[in-house]
Amino acid sequence: MTCPYCKAQTPLIGRGFRVTKRRGKAQRYQCKRCNRTFTQKTLVTGMWYDEETVAGVLLLHLEGVTELDIADFLGVCWRTVERWLEKFGNLLNKICSRFKPATCNTLHSDELFLKLLHRFLYVWDSCTKDSKWLTIRPSLKRNSKSAEHLLQESPRPLEANVTDGAFSYTEPVRKVHGRQVKHIVATDDHKYLNNFIEGVQSTIRRFTRPRRGFKRIHKAVNHLRRYQHYHNFIKNNVGLGNKPPAVRLGFVHYPNKANKKQRILHLLNQALSFWQKIKHRLC
Ligand SMILES: [Zn+2]
Repeated sequence: MTCPYCKAQTPLIGRGFRVTKRRGKAQRYQCKRCNRTFTQKTLVTGMWYDEETVAGVLLLHLEGVTELDIADFLGVCWRTVERWLEKFGNLLNKICSRFKPATCNTLHSDELFLKLLHRFLYVWDSCTKDSKWLTIRPSLKRNSKSAEHLLQESPRPLEANVTDGAFSYTEPVRKVHGRQVKHIVATDDHKYLNNFIEGVQSTIRRFTRPRRGFKRIHKAVNHLRRYQHYHNFIKNNVGLGNKPPAVRLGFVHYPNKANKKQRILHLLNQALSFWQKIKHRLC
Protein backbone atom coordinates (compact mmCIF):
# COMPACT_ATOMS: atom_id res chain seq x y z
CA MET A 1 0.00 0.00 0.00
CA THR A 2 1.19 3.52 -0.74
CA CYS A 3 0.53 6.75 1.10
CA PRO A 4 -2.07 8.84 -0.79
CA TYR A 5 -0.43 12.08 0.33
CA CYS A 6 3.30 11.70 -0.28
CA LYS A 7 3.15 8.52 -2.43
CA ALA A 8 5.77 6.92 -0.21
CA GLN A 9 6.04 3.15 -0.34
CA THR A 10 7.53 3.14 3.15
CA PRO A 11 6.16 0.67 5.68
CA LEU A 12 2.97 1.88 7.27
CA ILE A 13 1.90 1.41 10.81
CA GLY A 14 -1.61 0.63 12.01
CA ARG A 15 -3.08 3.46 14.03
CA GLY A 16 -6.29 2.03 15.41
CA PHE A 17 -9.54 2.17 13.51
CA ARG A 18 -11.77 4.67 11.89
CA VAL A 19 -15.29 3.95 13.09
CA THR A 20 -18.27 5.23 11.17
CA LYS A 21 -21.97 4.69 11.69
CA ARG A 22 -22.59 3.14 8.29
CA ARG A 23 -19.39 1.29 7.40
CA GLY A 24 -18.32 0.23 10.89
CA LYS A 25 -14.63 -0.36 11.56
CA ALA A 26 -11.91 0.35 9.03
CA GLN A 27 -8.17 -0.01 9.67
CA ARG A 28 -6.45 3.35 9.89
CA TYR A 29 -2.81 3.66 8.80
CA GLN A 30 -0.12 6.21 9.40
CA CYS A 31 2.63 7.04 6.95
CA LYS A 32 6.13 6.91 8.45
CA ARG A 33 7.41 9.67 6.22
CA CYS A 34 4.76 12.37 6.41
CA ASN A 35 3.01 11.15 9.56
CA ARG A 36 -0.45 11.62 8.07
CA THR A 37 -3.17 9.07 8.70
CA PHE A 38 -5.54 7.53 6.16
CA THR A 39 -7.68 4.47 5.46
CA GLN A 40 -7.46 2.24 2.43
CA LYS A 41 -9.47 3.46 -0.54
CA THR A 42 -12.30 1.21 -1.66
CA LEU A 43 -14.76 1.29 -4.53
CA VAL A 44 -17.35 3.14 -2.46
CA THR A 45 -15.14 5.60 -0.56
CA GLY A 46 -17.11 8.80 -0.08
CA MET A 47 -20.36 7.15 -1.15
CA TRP A 48 -23.49 6.58 0.86
CA TYR A 49 -24.38 3.22 -0.70
CA ASP A 50 -22.35 0.04 -0.33
CA GLU A 51 -20.66 -2.23 -2.86
CA GLU A 52 -23.57 -4.64 -2.99
CA THR A 53 -25.96 -1.96 -4.23
CA VAL A 54 -23.48 -0.71 -6.82
CA ALA A 55 -22.91 -4.22 -8.16
CA GLY A 56 -26.68 -4.82 -8.15
CA VAL A 57 -27.28 -1.71 -10.25
CA LEU A 58 -24.61 -2.70 -12.74
CA LEU A 59 -25.88 -6.24 -13.03
CA LEU A 60 -29.52 -5.24 -13.54
CA HIS A 61 -28.41 -2.79 -16.19
CA LEU A 62 -26.32 -5.40 -17.97
CA GLU A 63 -29.25 -7.81 -17.92
CA GLY A 64 -31.25 -5.25 -19.88
CA VAL A 65 -33.28 -3.40 -17.22
CA THR A 66 -33.69 0.33 -17.88
CA GLU A 67 -32.23 2.99 -15.58
CA LEU A 68 -35.67 4.08 -14.37
CA ASP A 69 -36.74 0.55 -13.49
CA ILE A 70 -33.50 -0.07 -11.61
CA ALA A 71 -34.01 3.15 -9.66
CA ASP A 72 -37.54 2.09 -8.73
CA PHE A 73 -36.50 -1.42 -7.81
CA LEU A 74 -33.56 -0.54 -5.56
CA GLY A 75 -34.92 2.72 -4.21
CA VAL A 76 -32.08 4.79 -5.62
CA CYS A 77 -32.47 8.09 -7.48
CA TRP A 78 -32.36 7.54 -11.27
CA ARG A 79 -29.71 10.21 -11.65
CA THR A 80 -27.55 8.23 -9.23
CA VAL A 81 -27.99 5.15 -11.38
CA GLU A 82 -26.94 7.08 -14.46
CA ARG A 83 -23.87 8.49 -12.71
CA TRP A 84 -22.81 5.10 -11.38
CA LEU A 85 -23.12 3.46 -14.77
CA GLU A 86 -20.79 6.07 -16.17
CA LYS A 87 -18.29 5.93 -13.31
CA PHE A 88 -18.13 2.18 -12.81
CA GLY A 89 -18.58 1.45 -16.49
CA ASN A 90 -15.42 3.45 -17.17
CA LEU A 91 -13.62 1.59 -14.42
CA LEU A 92 -14.73 -1.72 -15.89
CA ASN A 93 -13.52 -0.57 -19.28
CA LYS A 94 -10.08 0.23 -17.84
CA ILE A 95 -9.47 -3.39 -16.92
CA CYS A 96 -11.45 -5.20 -19.62
CA SER A 97 -10.11 -3.30 -22.61
CA ARG A 98 -6.58 -4.53 -21.80
CA PHE A 99 -7.39 -8.07 -22.89
CA LYS A 100 -8.05 -9.49 -26.33
CA PRO A 101 -7.21 -12.87 -27.87
CA ALA A 102 -4.65 -12.41 -30.64
CA THR A 103 -6.01 -15.03 -33.03
CA CYS A 104 -9.01 -17.27 -33.64
CA ASN A 105 -10.09 -19.89 -36.19
CA THR A 106 -13.12 -18.29 -37.76
CA LEU A 107 -14.33 -14.74 -37.32
CA HIS A 108 -17.96 -13.82 -37.96
CA SER A 109 -18.76 -10.18 -38.57
CA ASP A 110 -21.98 -8.32 -39.18
CA GLU A 111 -23.66 -5.02 -38.38
CA LEU A 112 -26.93 -3.69 -37.00
CA PHE A 113 -28.19 -0.19 -36.42
CA LEU A 114 -29.48 1.74 -33.47
CA LYS A 115 -31.73 4.75 -33.46
CA LEU A 116 -30.26 8.00 -32.16
CA LEU A 117 -32.30 11.16 -31.85
CA HIS A 118 -31.91 12.32 -35.46
CA ARG A 119 -29.74 9.69 -37.05
CA PHE A 120 -28.64 6.07 -37.02
CA LEU A 121 -25.70 4.54 -35.26
CA TYR A 122 -24.19 1.59 -37.06
CA VAL A 123 -23.05 -1.10 -34.69
CA TRP A 124 -20.30 -3.15 -36.28
CA ASP A 125 -19.76 -6.36 -34.39
CA SER A 126 -17.73 -9.52 -34.70
CA CYS A 127 -17.59 -12.75 -32.73
CA THR A 128 -15.06 -15.56 -32.86
CA LYS A 129 -16.44 -19.04 -33.41
CA ASP A 130 -14.09 -20.93 -31.09
CA SER A 131 -13.62 -18.55 -28.14
CA LYS A 132 -16.91 -16.56 -28.52
CA TRP A 133 -15.04 -13.29 -28.10
CA LEU A 134 -17.27 -10.34 -28.94
CA THR A 135 -16.01 -7.07 -30.42
CA ILE A 136 -18.36 -4.13 -30.90
CA ARG A 137 -17.41 -1.00 -32.75
CA PRO A 138 -20.07 1.65 -33.25
CA SER A 139 -19.74 4.15 -36.07
CA LEU A 140 -21.91 6.88 -37.60
CA LYS A 141 -21.19 5.72 -41.13
CA ARG A 142 -21.84 2.57 -43.04
CA ASN A 143 -18.71 2.37 -45.14
CA SER A 144 -15.70 0.14 -45.63
CA LYS A 145 -13.55 2.31 -43.34
CA SER A 146 -15.77 1.36 -40.38
CA ALA A 147 -15.64 -2.31 -41.38
CA GLU A 148 -11.86 -2.05 -41.52
CA HIS A 149 -11.68 -0.59 -38.01
CA LEU A 150 -13.82 -3.44 -36.72
CA LEU A 151 -11.59 -6.08 -38.30
CA GLN A 152 -8.49 -4.40 -36.91
CA GLU A 153 -9.91 -4.47 -33.41
CA SER A 154 -11.15 -8.07 -33.63
CA PRO A 155 -8.92 -11.11 -33.05
CA ARG A 156 -7.10 -12.17 -36.22
CA PRO A 157 -8.75 -15.15 -37.95
CA LEU A 158 -6.42 -17.89 -39.15
CA GLU A 159 -8.85 -19.69 -41.45
CA ALA A 160 -11.88 -17.71 -42.51
CA ASN A 161 -13.90 -14.55 -42.06
CA VAL A 162 -17.64 -14.99 -42.52
CA THR A 163 -19.58 -11.82 -43.37
CA ASP A 164 -23.00 -11.01 -44.77
CA GLY A 165 -23.46 -9.86 -48.33
CA ALA A 166 -22.68 -6.24 -47.45
CA PHE A 167 -20.47 -4.64 -50.03
CA SER A 168 -18.46 -2.80 -47.38
CA TYR A 169 -16.63 -5.96 -46.30
CA THR A 170 -14.96 -7.18 -49.50
CA GLU A 171 -12.08 -4.75 -49.54
CA PRO A 172 -11.32 -4.53 -45.78
CA VAL A 173 -11.14 -8.32 -45.34
CA ARG A 174 -8.39 -8.50 -47.97
CA LYS A 175 -6.61 -5.49 -46.64
CA VAL A 176 -6.62 -6.43 -42.95
CA HIS A 177 -6.26 -10.22 -43.10
CA GLY A 178 -4.32 -10.74 -46.31
CA ARG A 179 -4.83 -13.43 -48.93
CA GLN A 180 -4.40 -16.51 -46.72
CA VAL A 181 -7.70 -15.94 -44.93
CA LYS A 182 -10.80 -17.13 -46.76
CA HIS A 183 -13.61 -14.61 -47.07
CA ILE A 184 -16.95 -16.42 -46.94
CA VAL A 185 -19.99 -14.39 -47.87
CA ALA A 186 -23.12 -15.82 -46.29
CA THR A 187 -25.85 -15.27 -48.84
CA ASP A 188 -28.67 -17.41 -50.25
CA ASP A 189 -27.40 -21.01 -49.98
CA HIS A 190 -24.88 -20.22 -47.27
CA LYS A 191 -27.22 -18.11 -45.18
CA TYR A 192 -27.05 -20.66 -42.34
CA LEU A 193 -23.38 -19.78 -41.84
CA ASN A 194 -24.54 -16.50 -40.43
CA ASN A 195 -26.84 -18.06 -37.83
CA PHE A 196 -24.08 -17.86 -35.28
CA ILE A 197 -23.62 -14.09 -35.46
CA GLU A 198 -27.38 -13.54 -35.77
CA GLY A 199 -27.75 -15.21 -32.37
CA VAL A 200 -25.16 -12.88 -30.88
CA GLN A 201 -26.86 -9.89 -32.43
CA SER A 202 -30.23 -10.78 -31.06
CA THR A 203 -28.78 -10.63 -27.55
CA ILE A 204 -27.28 -7.21 -28.30
CA ARG A 205 -30.71 -6.07 -29.52
CA ARG A 206 -32.31 -7.40 -26.40
CA PHE A 207 -29.92 -5.26 -24.41
CA THR A 208 -30.44 -2.06 -26.38
CA ARG A 209 -34.16 -2.33 -27.10
CA PRO A 210 -35.54 -1.27 -23.69
CA ARG A 211 -33.80 2.08 -24.13
CA ARG A 212 -35.96 3.08 -27.14
CA GLY A 213 -33.30 5.19 -28.77
CA PHE A 214 -30.45 7.29 -27.42
CA LYS A 215 -30.16 11.05 -27.31
CA ARG A 216 -26.39 11.25 -27.19
CA ILE A 217 -23.82 9.36 -29.18
CA HIS A 218 -21.36 8.85 -26.34
CA LYS A 219 -24.13 7.37 -24.19
CA ALA A 220 -24.95 4.80 -26.84
CA VAL A 221 -21.27 4.01 -27.39
CA ASN A 222 -20.63 3.52 -23.66
CA HIS A 223 -23.79 1.42 -23.40
CA LEU A 224 -22.56 -0.94 -26.09
CA ARG A 225 -19.07 -1.09 -24.65
CA ARG A 226 -20.47 -2.20 -21.30
CA TYR A 227 -22.38 -4.93 -23.07
CA GLN A 228 -19.23 -6.11 -24.80
CA HIS A 229 -17.41 -6.45 -21.47
CA TYR A 230 -20.42 -8.18 -19.97
CA HIS A 231 -20.44 -10.73 -22.78
CA ASN A 232 -16.69 -11.35 -22.64
CA PHE A 233 -16.04 -11.25 -18.90
CA ILE A 234 -19.18 -11.87 -16.86
CA LYS A 235 -21.89 -13.75 -18.70
CA ASN A 236 -21.74 -17.55 -18.75
CA ASN A 237 -21.47 -18.94 -22.23
CA VAL A 238 -23.22 -22.26 -22.82
CA GLY A 239 -20.88 -23.10 -25.71
CA LEU A 240 -17.86 -22.77 -23.43
CA GLY A 241 -19.04 -25.07 -20.65
CA ASN A 242 -20.90 -22.30 -18.82
CA LYS A 243 -17.90 -20.06 -18.42
CA PRO A 244 -17.29 -16.54 -19.69
CA PRO A 245 -14.89 -16.32 -22.68
CA ALA A 246 -12.29 -14.39 -20.67
CA VAL A 247 -12.15 -17.13 -18.02
CA ARG A 248 -11.72 -19.79 -20.68
CA LEU A 249 -8.90 -17.81 -22.25
CA GLY A 250 -7.25 -17.35 -18.85
CA PHE A 251 -7.48 -13.54 -18.75
CA VAL A 252 -9.21 -13.46 -15.35
CA HIS A 253 -9.57 -15.87 -12.47
CA TYR A 254 -12.64 -15.48 -10.32
CA PRO A 255 -12.92 -16.98 -6.86
CA ASN A 256 -14.59 -20.38 -6.88
CA LYS A 257 -18.31 -20.35 -7.75
CA ALA A 258 -18.42 -16.56 -7.96
CA ASN A 259 -21.81 -15.29 -9.08
CA LYS A 260 -22.22 -12.42 -11.52
CA LYS A 261 -22.32 -9.77 -8.79
CA GLN A 262 -19.08 -11.05 -7.28
CA ARG A 263 -17.50 -11.16 -10.72
CA ILE A 264 -18.38 -7.51 -11.28
CA LEU A 265 -16.91 -6.53 -7.91
CA HIS A 266 -13.80 -8.61 -8.57
CA LEU A 267 -13.20 -6.82 -11.88
CA LEU A 268 -13.91 -3.38 -10.39
CA ASN A 269 -11.54 -3.94 -7.46
CA GLN A 270 -8.86 -5.14 -9.84
CA ALA A 271 -9.34 -2.06 -11.97
CA LEU A 272 -9.14 0.18 -8.91
CA SER A 273 -5.86 -1.27 -7.65
CA PHE A 274 -4.41 -1.29 -11.16
CA TRP A 275 -5.36 2.32 -11.73
CA GLN A 276 -3.95 3.43 -8.37
CA LYS A 277 -0.64 1.78 -9.17
CA ILE A 278 -0.44 3.64 -12.49
CA LYS A 279 -1.38 6.92 -10.83
CA HIS A 280 1.41 6.55 -8.29
CA ARG A 281 3.94 5.75 -10.96
CA LEU A 282 3.02 8.94 -12.80
CA CYS A 283 3.32 11.15 -9.71
ZN1 LIG B 1 3.03 9.87 3.44
